[in-house]
This record gives sequence, structure tokens and C-alpha cells, in this order.
Amino acid sequence: MHIFKRNYTKFILLLLLSLFPKTILFAQENSLKTKYFTIYYAQDCSLAQLADRLHAASFLHIDIFPQQNNVQDIQSIVSDLFDSLYLEVSDIIDIHMYSFEGTIRIMPGREELREILGAYFKKVPNVASFYSHANNTIYFSWPDLTLGVLVHEMAHAIISHYFVVPPSTKVQEILAGYVEYSIRKKAGLQVVK
Ligand SMILES: [Zn+2]
Repeated sequence: MHIFKRNYTKFILLLLLSLFPKTILFAQENSLKTKYFTIYYAQDCSLAQLADRLHAASFLHIDIFPQQNNVQDIQSIVSDLFDSLYLEVSDIIDIHMYSFEGTIRIMPGREELREILGAYFKKVPNVASFYSHANNTIYFSWPDLTLGVLVHEMAHAIISHYFVVPPSTKVQEILAGYVEYSIRKKAGLQVVK
């Protein structure tokens, strides 16, 4: 009876694992709600590092960064930063949707991103980021997340959301590329010509 019970528990656990693999995959995440996005990020991602990588100082006009252990401050900085960048991208392409709400998922690395992409592609591409129109979610690989990559995908999200019939992939890439160029230029970063 005892053995049966233990096996039964194991069986239930295995059943749960097979029913909710995604829940388990995302279990190690933190989240942050901004005006325009809900951001889920892997526990290893440092928000202070993220703010630095995204050149927060250029877009929020702040000089002093709080200490890394001041969780509240850094969360509000990152939240303001994503919303400011959203508005910058909107300005550049002249599409303003103040009711926009999207999801951002920052995965620990490309391997985890590939697992997500497996649901969309038969031949999974090795990419740093991806926007899914179906669930209005932008996925990133943490080590690859830069200012250019972020605003590029934000542009895709805005464009896809705005047009009833989304423009062709080529048109979208030209627009997203232009957004990336403009924002990098604004942040004083070297732009590839
Ligand atoms: Zn693109």
C-alpha cells in the first residue's frame, strides 16, 4: 500500500509535468508591469545591467543610477525606460497607440528561445529575438538583448498591431531597420552605414 502510494504520487507529478511543461519552463521568472508592456525576465537577468545596456541615461535624462540592491528604484527606472522607448519608436514611425499592451519575455539564452520557436517553425532559426503576432509577445535571448534589438522588435509589434493587414515582411524589416538606426543614432551609438 505504501509503495503504491509513492508510485501514485510520482505518477501525478509526471502527469503534471507533461500537462504544464510551459509553466515549469517559465517558473524561474520575475515580472514587471509597465504602461505598455508586461515584462517577464529570467531570474539571472539583472535589471541594473539591462538599464545600462539600453542606455537608460540617454532616454530618461538621469545621471545617477541607484545601487543594484535598490530593487524598487531599478524596477521603476526599467519600467519608465521601456515606456519611453515605446514612445520613441511610435514617434519615429508616426503610429501612436496609447492603448497598446504587449508582452515581453526575456529568456536566459538562445537555447531557451529555440524551445519557444519550436512551436512556430519546423526548422528553428538561430535568432536573438522574435516577435509573435499571434500572442503579441516579443521574445529575447538575454545575452543578445541590446538597444537596437529591442527597438527593432518593438517596431514589429507596433506595426503588426496597427495595420489590419500587416505590411509584407520586407516592408516591416525596412521600417524596423530604420527605427533601429534612428534610436541608435539618438543614443550616440555608432551606426552601421
Ligand atoms: Zn525584423
